[in-house]
Amino acid sequence: MSYAERILEELKAKNADQPEFIQAATEILSTLGPALDAHPEYEENALLERFVEPERVVMFRVPWVDDSGKVQVNRGYRVEFNSAIGPYKGGLRFNPTVTLGMLKFLGLEQILKNSLTTLPMGGGKGGSDFDPKGKSNNEIMHFCQSFMTELCRHIGPNTDVPAGDLGVGGREVAYMFGQYKRIRNEWTGVLTGKGLSFGGSLARTEATGYGLVYFVDEYLKSNGDSFEGKNVVVHGSGNVAIYAVQKVSQLGGKVLACSDTHGWVEDPEGINYKVLENVYNKKRSGHDKGVTLAMYLDDRPNAIWHAEDGRGVWQLPCDIALPCARENTLLLEDAQALVANGCKVVGEGANMPSTIEATNYFLENGVAFMPGKAANAGGVLVSGLEMSQNAEHLSWSFEEVDGKLEQLMRGMFHNVDDTAKKYGHEGNFVMGANIAGFEKVADAMIAQGV
Ligand code: GLU
Repeated sequence: MSYAERILEELKAKNADQPEFIQAATEILSTLGPALDAHPEYEENALLERFVEPERVVMFRVPWVDDSGKVQVNRGYRVEFNSAIGPYKGGLRFNPTVTLGMLKFLGLEQILKNSLTTLPMGGGKGGSDFDPKGKSNNEIMHFCQSFMTELCRHIGPNTDVPAGDLGVGGREVAYMFGQYKRIRNEWTGVLTGKGLSFGGSLARTEATGYGLVYFVDEYLKSNGDSFEGKNVVVHGSGNVAIYAVQKVSQLGGKVLACSDTHGWVEDPEGINYKVLENVYNKKRSGHDKGVTLAMYLDDRPNAIWHAEDGRGVWQLPCDIALPCARENTLLLEDAQALVANGCKVVGEGANMPSTIEATNYFLENGVAFMPGKAANAGGVLVSGLEMSQNAEHLSWSFEEVDGKLEQLMRGMFHNVDDTAKKYGHEGNFVMGANIAGFEKVADAMIAQGV
């Protein structure tokens, strides 16, 4: 049994109740073999044993009062996974599916993702099983305040810097920032994804979607190709999807379809990002509870609405697929349909949207598969740039931030590509991303001692 296999077996036994964490650890550990062979010092220093164990986990009660005056209680978490290369950094997710295992999965991914950005950020993730759907603005504010009342003891601009994730956008970050400041009497860049009037960065909203397209575009470019004339299919219609759609159109590609949890929309003229943005803003405002993506047709009457599982988008013939919804939403049968219909490139805008079986199918069938931990790193990358701006008490122009994002995402593609080549697995970007991300963290951990 190899070193990685042994650690994976131990991890499965210890974390049997955390299937998502086991999934992520399996995906990562099964690709690190060549790097572990080349660096015997990793095993000598029990590097993997340390790498898969969070440095710290905080779990806490979040009590709050709903609009009817009833006391509600949720569970809050912050997984401070790895601080070898910088303060813990990663989003907060508010969703009923949140469990410790889910956050450990996302946190483990985040360590490698943040390492790949080349910025000094460690890995963390947090959140709550709170469901923001259908809650009033007042309820969201009270929940966020209660959540931060506890979390504020554990974070700080040089310790741990949370941000948004599913269910946590600008509004929630702002409420939490306000509470941190109130309690600590300290104005610092302790959260990223803040509003522009209080330390937020321009281009943070667009960053994940734009970054995804820059990353895929760099792959196309290095193969003498481009987005020009390409048919693209997007899964999702949230913050990542909207700006991926915009950037694809700017680069000459056409987005055929996108989806939400109620169905999917097909637009023969190409999905329009502005219309998508309007639907998204209506959904987020909470005033109009019945809003679904079907509303896209109000502005684009020639589009077609399919009131069925959003995974229907994977049945469309396309050149490039961009899964931008959430984890495990692209299954083996979807991968088979995509390959059968001629899809050549997959860029993950979400965190691990493809199951392991789907990922392996892509890799075995010659699809250029760009894993989320590299392809969707644009969001946290601009979070890192927001931290820099806060630290120097400056704000940079949109062009400056977007320019740095583009340069770093394009550079990241080459780092991932070169690493895969160096270890004899050319074109395997999963292996390239995992090894490149891991080596930097591992070397820092060894240098800092046990
Ligand atoms: N939640 C995003 C991610 O998965 C962004 C995290 C951040 O900006 O810290 O990378």
